[in-house]
Amino acid sequence: MLVIVCPHCGPRNSNEFSFLGERSSRPAVATTTPDEWRRYLYTKDNAAGSQLERWFHVSGCRRFLDVERDTVTNEIRSVRDVAEDAR
Ligand SMILES: [Zn+2]
Repeated sequence: MLVIVCPHCGPRNSNEFSFLGERSSRPAVATTTPDEWRRYLYTKDNAAGSQLERWFHVSGCRRFLDVERDTVTNEIRSVRDVAEDAR
């Protein structure tokens, strides 16, 4: 069982969350090439180790979270609310 400590709801089972994938920087739409856009949409790093991921707390606060997780050990190193990062 994977436990994610939501900054709003506390420790919760990961089945309360929806995994939205690994984080990557969106290229500038006006200046990107079709190949860069294709790589952004369809190519993932799938790192063995630390990875920054986007999760959504579906059965809780319904907030988007950035989770730093080790994909080998499933250790969660940090959880941050995406909206608070934008402030
Ligand atoms: Zn929550």
